[in-house]
Amino acid sequence: MPKSVLIVGCGVFGLSTALELLEQGYTVTAIDRYKPPSPWSAACDYNKIIRAEYTDLKYSRLAIEAMQGWRHHPLFKPVYNECGRLMITPSYHTGRQKFEALGIRNLHFLGEGKKIEYFHGGFDVASHFKHFRENHIQSNENSKFNPESGLGHAGDSLKVLYERCKELGCEFVFGEDGEAKELKIVEGRTCVVTKSGLVFKADQVLVAMGANSGKLVDLNHQQSATGLFVTHIKLTPEEHEFYKDLPILFDAEMGYFFPPDPRTRILKVALPGSGASNNVINPHDTSDILSLPRFHNLNPTDTMPKSFVKKAKLLLAKYVPNLSYHELFDSKVCWIADTQDSDFIIDKVPGFNGLYVATGDSGHAYKFLPIIGKYIVQRLDGSLSREWSKAWRWKNVSGEFDPTQCEWRVVDDFPDLSSIDWALENSKSKL
Ligand SMILES: Cc1cc2nc3c(=O)[nH]c(=O)nc-3n(C[C@H](O)[C@H](O)[C@H](O)COP(=O)(O)OP(=O)(O)OC[C@H]3O[C@@H](n4cnc5c(N)ncnc54)[C@H](O)[C@@H]3O)c2cc1C
Repeated sequence: MPKSVLIVGCGVFGLSTALELLEQGYTVTAIDRYKPPSPWSAACDYNKIIRAEYTDLKYSRLAIEAMQGWRHHPLFKPVYNECGRLMITPSYHTGRQKFEALGIRNLHFLGEGKKIEYFHGGFDVASHFKHFRENHIQSNENSKFNPESGLGHAGDSLKVLYERCKELGCEFVFGEDGEAKELKIVEGRTCVVTKSGLVFKADQVLVAMGANSGKLVDLNHQQSATGLFVTHIKLTPEEHEFYKDLPILFDAEMGYFFPPDPRTRILKVALPGSGASNNVINPHDTSDILSLPRFHNLNPTDTMPKSFVKKAKLLLAKYVPNLSYHELFDSKVCWIADTQDSDFIIDKVPGFNGLYVATGDSGHAYKFLPIIGKYIVQRLDGSLSREWSKAWRWKNVSGEFDPTQCEWRVVDDFPDLSSIDWALENSKSKL
C-alpha cells in the first residue's frame, strides 16, 4: 500500500477521494488554486440534481448507491433535499425521449422508480403542483415526476467534505502554492510543480482538475471543456414562502431551475441544452487546438450570450410566469469535461510513474460525491472491478470528438467563446 497520495484539484473527484484515502489510513496532500468550493469547480454552485435515471444500467446502480449516501450519511444528509424532479421533453426530440424512457426502464429493472407519476398537458401539472398553477404547458405535452430525486447543496457539500478531510489530517495547500503548472519527472517519479515554484511529490499523484485537467496532462483529446450557462433571480420573502417547496423543473429543451436557495432566496436557472467551447492552442502540442476553460472569476464579462437572456425568461414565463419579471443576475459560464461516451476517465496515465487521472465528468459526476472516492481509490490500489476499469479506462480517441453529438444533448447552438455577444449585467451581484 503506498503511503502518500497527492491530489491535484479539490472538487468532486478530488475531495471524495481524499476522504476515502484518509479513512483508509493514507497520508494525503491536496492542492488547489482555491479553498473549496473553488470558483473553478463545476460544483461551485447553489445546487445540483441528484437522480438515478441512466440509460446505462451500471450508472443507475452507482447513482442508487450514491443516493443512499445522500439520504443517510451524516456528512451528506444535511446538504441534500429530496424535492423531486418534474421532467418535460419535446415529443419531436426522439433521442432525448428514448434516453429518458430507458432511464426509467432501468430504474424499474433495479426495483426503483415505483413512485414516478405521469402528467398530460398543463392542467394536469397545475392540479398537482400549486407552484405551476399558471403554467403554459401545451395540452399535447407530457411530463413525468420522480419524487425520489433531489438536489445537493453543491458548494456547501464541498465545504463540509473539506472540513471533514481537514479533521482527518489532510494537508491542504491553496493559492499560487497550490496551482499546478506542470509535471516534472524527478528521479523517475512524477512530481507537480505549482505556480509559485513549489514541487510536490508522493507515492501516487492523482490529477482531478475537472475541465482544466487537460492543461496539466496531455489527455489526447479524450476530453473537451464545455461551458454551460447559469443565471439567477432573487425572490421576495413572499415569493420564497410560496415557491420554497418547488420540485426541480427540468425542460430538456428550454433549461431547468431549482427551488430557491433557503438562505438567500436565490433561484438558479440553468440553460443546459446548449453549451460553448473555448478553443485555444493545445498546451501539449502547439500545432493543435483544444477546448479548455476560461474561468468566470478571472473573466467576469463572460456572463451568458445575449440571446440566452430571452431563453431564460421564456423558461420562467412558461412554468412560473409570476417570477419572470425578475432581473437576471450573476450569469456565468461554468465548465464541464465532456468525453465522447460520457464515461469518466479514472486510470493511470500511460508513460508516467505513479500518475493517475480522475476526470472527464461529462456534466454528471456531482451526484456521486458521497461514493466516487471509493471507486477512485480502488483504481489506485488496483482493486477496481473489471466493469468499471473498462468504462473508465484511458482510451485512444482518433481525432477530435464533437460534444454536440452526445445523444442526450438537445443542442440548438454551440458557439466558441470568441464569437459570443455577451449579455451585459447592469446590477451588482446579489450573492
Ligand atoms: C452548470 C452545471 C450544472 C451541472 N449539473 C449537474 C447536476 O445536476 N448533477 C450532477 O451530477 N452533475 C452536474 N454537473 C457536473 C458536476 O458539477 C461535475 O461533474 C463535477 O463538479 C466534476 O467534478 P471534478 O472533480 O471532475 O471537477 P470540479 O468539481 O470542476 O473540480 C476541479 C477542481 O480542480 C481545481 N483546479 C483546476 N485547475 C487547477 C490547477 N491548475 N491547479 C490546482 N487545482 C486546479 C479547481 O479549482 C476545482 O476545485 C453540472 C455542472 C455544471 C457546470
